[in-house]
Amino acid sequence: MTLETKYYADFNDIIGLELTCPACGTAVAHTLAKFSSAAYQCPNCRSQIIAQSQTDDETLSNFVNFLKLVQTLKTPARLRLQLKPLVSQTSAGQQ
Ligand SMILES: [Zn+2]
Repeated sequence: MTLETKYYADFNDIIGLELTCPACGTAVAHTLAKFSSAAYQCPNCRSQIIAQSQTDDETLSNFVNFLKLVQTLKTPARLRLQLKPLVSQTSAGQQ
């Protein structure tokens, strides 16, 4: 017998997003409700965390707006995202 664990995130459970600085690891959290745009630089070390291009800024804003829009759907079906299992769980059975 094989057991498989699947992880899902309900769209209505998504309340924000987090950007983590690749240089120092500082995490910058944004709530969906108050998101307007993300800072281009890390507030801690000033490293670039978002490309300073209109495309990246627009894509991030569009993504947040899309999440907000999906949360307003009136469909009776439960809509969820399937998440990738944790690495430690997928590799545990393969060793
Ligand atoms: Zn940083």
